[in-house]
Order: sequence, then C-alpha cells, then structure tokens
Amino acid sequence: MTATRFPTQLLINGVCVAGAGRAESVLNPSTGEVLCEVAEASAEQLRQAVDAASAAFPAWAALTPKDRSGFLLKIADAIEAHGDEFASLESLNCGKPLSAARNDEIPAIADVFRFFGGAIRNLQGALGGEYLAGHTSMIRRDPLGVVASIAPWNYPLMMAAWKLGPAIAMGNTVVLKPSENTPLTTLRLGELLANILPPGVVNIVCGRGDTVGAPLIRDPRIRMASLTGDVSTGSKIMEAAARGIKRTHLELGGKAPVIVLDDADLGSVVEGLRTFGYYNAGQDCTAACRVYATEKIYERLVADLSSAVSSIKVGLQQENGVEMGPLISARQRDRVASFVDRASQLPHVEITAGGSAWGNKGFFYKPTVVAGAQQDDEIVRSEVFGPVVSITRVKDAEQAVAYANDSEYGLSSSVWSSNVGTAMNIASRLQYGCTWVNTHFMLVSEMPHGGMKHSGYGKDMSMYALEDYSCVRHVMVKHS
Ligand code: NAD
Repeated sequence: MTATRFPTQLLINGVCVAGAGRAESVLNPSTGEVLCEVAEASAEQLRQAVDAASAAFPAWAALTPKDRSGFLLKIADAIEAHGDEFASLESLNCGKPLSAARNDEIPAIADVFRFFGGAIRNLQGALGGEYLAGHTSMIRRDPLGVVASIAPWNYPLMMAAWKLGPAIAMGNTVVLKPSENTPLTTLRLGELLANILPPGVVNIVCGRGDTVGAPLIRDPRIRMASLTGDVSTGSKIMEAAARGIKRTHLELGGKAPVIVLDDADLGSVVEGLRTFGYYNAGQDCTAACRVYATEKIYERLVADLSSAVSSIKVGLQQENGVEMGPLISARQRDRVASFVDRASQLPHVEITAGGSAWGNKGFFYKPTVVAGAQQDDEIVRSEVFGPVVSITRVKDAEQAVAYANDSEYGLSSSVWSSNVGTAMNIASRLQYGCTWVNTHFMLVSEMPHGGMKHSGYGKDMSMYALEDYSCVRHVMVKHS
C-alpha cells in the first residue's frame, strides 16, 4: 500500500498553508518509520485561524438550515468519493487494518455529515404562545460562535466528523486541532473543505496540546471547547475554560464493564469480546475490557476467550485477513506492557493469552487476557487503552452491578444474558452513558455517545449533539 502524497498544510481562512511553527514527525506505527513532517501552527497562525472563524460566523449562522445542510451533504459526498485515499492515509498513520478503515470507518464518517445535514432541518422544541397576557413568547436555538475542537489519535477522521458535523450544522464556526500523532486525514479533509465551505467556517491547526491546544482554548473569542481525550486533559481544559466562562464538551476515557451472567450464550460472549475487546488494538474508549463473569460461566469463559483471542490475526495494515494492528506509539505500547507486567506479579492473576510485545518492529502488543483479576487491582480500575481484557469472577448479578458501578468511569457498558428482563433490570441500574444488551460497541449516528463521571459529559452524534453545540434563547413580543 502506498499513499501517493501526505497532506501537511493547515487550513486557515479557506487557504491551505504550511505551519510556521516547530515540525513534528508523523509515524507509521506498524514500522516506526517517519511518514512525513507536519509543522505546528505558530501563535500568529492560531490568531489568524480564530480571526477567520470569528469573521465567518455571522454569515454562516445566518444561512438557512437547508443551505447549511447542502454543505454538509457535499462534505459527505467528498469523503465517500475520496474513501480509498482517506482509508489508506488513516490506516498508515494509525496502523489499523486497511479493511477496518475502509469498510467500517469511512462509511460511518460520511453518514455523520449526512445525519447532521438532515437533523438540522428538523429541530424540535417547546411551543410558542402567550405565557404572559399580551405577550407572545418563542424559543430559539441559536449557535454559540467559534468552537475550539480538539481530537485524539484513535479515530482521527471519525472524531473530526463527530466534532465538525453538529458544530457547523448548528451554525457555529470551528477551529479544529487533530492529535499531533495523527493529523493526516484531517489535513486531507481540510484540502477538500477549502473547495466546499465558505472561508473561515472550518479552520484546521496542527500541533501539540501545550503549544497549540492550550493557547487556542485561552483565546477570549472561543465560546466553547470540545475535547475527546484523556481525563487529565479534560480537567486542564475545564480549568482553562473556567477562566473565560466557556462551555465545554468532554468525551474522556472509559473502562467498560461487561457483565456476563450464567445464562448468557457463551459462544456469542466469546465472539463479542474477541471483536469488541480488541478492535483498534483496544484503543477505544468503549472497548469491552473489564469482564465480570458469574460463577458457573467463569471457567469456560476464561478458557474459550483465551483460545479465541490467540487466533486474532495481528499484522501490517494491508495484510490479507489482518484483524489487529499496533498501538499508536512506543510510549503507548510500553504503557500497556507495564499494566500487564504489574498485573502478572499478583498471585491471583493468570495471563491466559498474550502478555508481551509482538514482532520485531513497530509498536505491536499481543491480544491479552488477564484472568482472575480482582476488583481493586489496577488492571480492573485503570484505563489501559490497549488490547487487554481482564476477567473477574463475581458471585452473582448483584455483585456484578456493584462492581461495574464502582468505577471512576461512566462511558459504556454491556450485559450478556438470555433473560431480557434480567438484562433490562441491570441496564436500568448501570451508571454509564450507554448500556448494550448481548452486544457491545455498536454506534449509530441517530443515538447519543457520551459519558458520566470522569468519562465527561456532552453527547456526540444524535439530536443531543445539536443541543450541546447551541443555546436556547427566549424571545418575547409585547402586543401593544
Ligand atoms: P490526550 O488527552 O493526550 O490528547 C487529546 C488531544 O488533546 C490531543 O489533540 C492533544 O494534543 C490535546 N491536548 C493535550 N493537552 C492539551 C491541553 N492542555 N490543552 C488543549 N489540548 C490538549 O488523549 P489521546 O492520548 O490523544 O487519546 C486517548 C484518550 O482519549 C484516551 O484516554 C481515551 O479514552 C480518550 N478517548 C475518549 C473517547 C470518548 O468518546 N470518550 C473517544 C476516543 C478517545
């Protein structure tokens, strides 16, 4: 697989320009080789990006929903038309299998823009009326202004879509910063947007969190900061936003509990965990990584999952049938390894699959199962963000629910049982933004994605995202 060209230019006021700041190497995580260098935005370029977004805001906000929708549909078409190129770039830059990028991600990304293109034409709300005699009230839902959007490295183009779609559909303008590790598909999108959108509606700046992300959020003209990233980064962004009383939208980490009851269909559970625990090498905030299995199914689950996981095909992006790629960086691989190494020292823990790095180049780590983990073990409590699933034995469903909720995280969860009533009862008591029953990880544009507790707040996708990227206003008219 060869990508013909690596996009390296920022998008500022509708023009693609080279960054004037420090150059960052962009790597292929499967080999560790440098793909290209991308220069950060300078302080002056950051200012220009916010200038452009501020200048573009009034005209963009004044367009009818129908007209803004037309732009979003064009973006979706352009993503589809360049689907092979986007998939190739994403797969090279993230290490993920080309087939996953092409068949799973690109269609879903185009769909996000199509969904928001439709949704913006169908907002619902309270009825206008005379709530005070002689006065008519109406509710408006209006955009906020310039949004700073900051994305992570696990699904770069998807996260860009989740942030841009609702923000621009609602009439905001955006300055978007991709992760310094994975800017390529976002920069390629910028090249296409330069020919689709009016100048300044979307601006793309590259760079690290401290040199570009932090000053961007501090700019007093930024009205909202949207982050998908680590909990600690979310906390820094809240502090910075607090000083300027800015709205925040935070999609942070996860540690999804997977409750497996004795009456679950073992084959489906194993197939589900093999897929949803290791997809994207486990670098997924919803990854099915923290299993609680009741007494009678526990031993069989450990045995069958360990054997199933050992058959996951690890390899290079374009290899036939490859199911899992590397971690994003040597640092992330070493971090994952250190979690597993510490867990393996515990007397009650057994590593029943994987447990070490894979291959002799790139940042691979084997799909790993940590059996016998206990509730207070670090491997159960902390987000690993790698291909590692822990299994904890619980005595019954009540203990599983208590353990599942005993977590700082609150993004997603699943329950596996053949009794729908039991599963619904458990789902009603889990403190997570999403609970799946007899599946995991399934996302659709119409339904919200977002967390509770340290996993953050604010919803991506769905009508709820349009609410997050707008404010409710009251207009009252006195009759005479
Ligand atoms: P990260 O927090 O290190 O970086 C995310 C982004 O924030 C990057 O663009 C980075 O440059 C920027 N950033 C860092 N410090 C900043 C600062 N002080 N001010 C402004 N911007 C700053 O996270 P990551 O390592 O790229 O991504 C992995 C994390 O993201 C994991 O914890 C994962 O759970 C989380 N994640 C969450 C979701 C979700 O929907 N909840 C989705 C994907 C990833």
